[in-house]
Amino acid sequence: MKRESIYKRYVPAVTPDEKNNGPAYWFIFNSDKLLLNPEDNFKIPSAEDLNELSISPVRIQYLGTLDGQPCYTAEVEPGTNPPGGMVFQDLISLYEVLDEDIFLLAGRAIQIINWDKDHQFCGRCGSLTQTSDYEMAKICPECGLMNFPRLSPAVITAIVKEDKILLAKHSYGFKDRYSLIAGFVEPGETLEEAVHREIKEEVGIKVKGLKYFGSQPWPFPHSLMVGFTAQYKEGEIKVDGKEILDAKWFTAQEVPPPPSQVSISSELINWFIDNNSGGR
Ligand SMILES: [Zn+2]
Repeated sequence: MKRESIYKRYVPAVTPDEKNNGPAYWFIFNSDKLLLNPEDNFKIPSAEDLNELSISPVRIQYLGTLDGQPCYTAEVEPGTNPPGGMVFQDLISLYEVLDEDIFLLAGRAIQIINWDKDHQFCGRCGSLTQTSDYEMAKICPECGLMNFPRLSPAVITAIVKEDKILLAKHSYGFKDRYSLIAGFVEPGETLEEAVHREIKEEVGIKVKGLKYFGSQPWPFPHSLMVGFTAQYKEGEIKVDGKEILDAKWFTAQEVPPPPSQVSISSELINWFIDNNSGGR
């Protein structure tokens, strides 16, 4: 099921509108943990300023507006205690807990606050940088180097052979789980070339009929997952035993249920099941 675009509710901006000074949404991070109110449905705090929350941030960035309400992200010193009744919780554990638009905005927020933190000084000449007031950029006033938030595109592919899909067991992450073939795009290659290279490297086969499926931002730490479907072309499955421990073909009935229902990976697996069993 395709989600609605976040831009139905969210308008990005880098400088606040001074006339819009009502309560703001605050995405406040203590390392990778987001401040939430567990007694109020895990809502993020809304306040006119951070004094109301007794929070002293080390840095703040404006994010734009959600449903017309200003949104900010802020970071506190590691070890800061949450205000009364609230908790700092790992953002990754909040996938499927938070409203999806709030989760996506929190993902944007943590990437922006980390980019701000990691580019206080110019990586080329070491001078103190300045934050641009018209685009998301940190600029060196001495040598002119500009740094934008980093994004790392990765490709993920559903490979189908007749009525079966190829899933592999990786040596990292969830070791007992079979999942789709995925990997980061390398400098100088297209998304399509990245798909062919990753598949050849990880399972030793060739595919054809590559089709774009959809994409998903994944802020851990700064990925953009780009999903494809493809047909098996030729070759025998061969795994390296290091990165990939095993790979095999599964029918729609045999596919293990995906861990989450809203990721691009589960959308691709559900696409395969819908096309090969009339659902299950
Ligand atoms: Zn510089």
